[in-house]
Amino acid sequence: GPLQHEVSPQLTSTCLAPSWWTWSRGRWTACARVPSGTSSAPTTSFSVGGHALRRGLGGPGWDPDEEEPNIRVVLEHRFYKEKSKSVKQTCDKCSTIIWGLIQTWYTCTGCYYRCHSKCLPLVTKPCVRSKVSHQAEYQLSICPESGLDSQDYRCAECRAPIALRGVPSEARQCDYTGLYYCSSCHWNDLAVVPARAIHNWDFEPRKVSRCSMRYLALMVSRPVLKLREINPLLFNYVEELVEIRKLRQDILLMKPYFITCKEAMEARLLLQLQDRQHFVENDEMYSLQDLIDIEAGRLSCSLTEIHTLFAKHIKLDCERCQAKGFVCELCKEGDVLFPFDSHTSVCTDCSAVFHRDCYYDNSTTCPKCARLSLRKQSLFQDSVAEAEP
Ligand SMILES: [Zn+2]
Ligand SMILES: [Zn+2]
Ligand SMILES: [Zn+2]
Ligand SMILES: [Zn+2]
Ligand SMILES: [Zn+2]
Ligand SMILES: [Zn+2]
Repeated sequence: GPLQHEVSPQLTSTCLAPSWWTWSRGRWTACARVPSGTSSAPTTSFSVGGHALRRGLGGPGWDPDEEEPNIRVVLEHRFYKEKSKSVKQTCDKCSTIIWGLIQTWYTCTGCYYRCHSKCLPLVTKPCVRSKVSHQAEYQLSICPESGLDSQDYRCAECRAPIALRGVPSEARQCDYTGLYYCSSCHWNDLAVVPARAIHNWDFEPRKVSRCSMRYLALMVSRPVLKLREINPLLFNYVEELVEIRKLRQDILLMKPYFITCKEAMEARLLLQLQDRQHFVENDEMYSLQDLIDIEAGRLSCSLTEIHTLFAKHIKLDCERCQAKGFVCELCKEGDVLFPFDSHTSVCTDCSAVFHRDCYYDNSTTCPKCARLSLRKQSLFQDSVAEAEP
């Protein structure tokens, strides 16, 4: 078949030029205008007919039989070869654009570090994923700065010389670590900083280093913040937090109904919370994403919806769950009660449920507990009586 292959000569002379090209698709035609990131802005056009075509540009060291492997492991990164040709990304190693159409590139499945195939052997930063598993706790002081001198006037990551005046290289501060970085390790990426969120309820994104950005992105959904311990005062100042805490407590009270109800299990009701698994496990751990969503008003909405859906199953739709309601044993009147109803109190010892007005404080004797202790006593006396001949 006809085979045309035209490449603007400038392209081969720029640093962006690949040493070789790979096409593995059977038959396609593509036209790509290389955007004006390069001064010459060359236009590349391909018209390929027939089977897989590999074409070298004659660069030294190009091996026509060398296949780029799909997976490469470097410093604990697990790099997968990217299939996407059209996405324009920036290489985390050399800070230049990755031209997906003509360059092979890889993304780490652990930390999303991406780079050119040619830059892979030069990667010196270990995968942040391992840092997340070893260091699963945030640094919680706000921008803990100690000064350039304590860093020896060098980038905190690659040790390149830096200075505040920009000579030889600009020093950029990371708001998360408080340290200074060179411009290839700090791209002025913006991220919500956990210390500012939790101490100041401040969600304004701040400039962070590449490494911090990847770490924060990997950590954002992890429930590692025990608000009650880090900043208990927050509950006095942020109304939404009180609302969320109540909804979470209720959901934990509903959980026993669901895990013993076949219908609820089949309807996969608890899976409504699969993105926030910790909400099914406890009511005190928060992820940074939870806080971001609370501040934006999103979490309260979605959690109220789930709460309504859950309550509807237990109180209206499911006979089996309905049967597990309580009648207030103190007044023996009124509707069937559930522990998550708003006007109720729950005995901390036996989990029996009463009207709040009937069980108004801890001095109230729970009739169920009283009955249980009476039974225990008589059992004990029986066994004593049996033991004595
Ligand atoms: Zn690169
Ligand atoms: Zn990685
Ligand atoms: Zn650096
Ligand atoms: Zn049920
Ligand atoms: Zn009552
Ligand atoms: Zn009780």
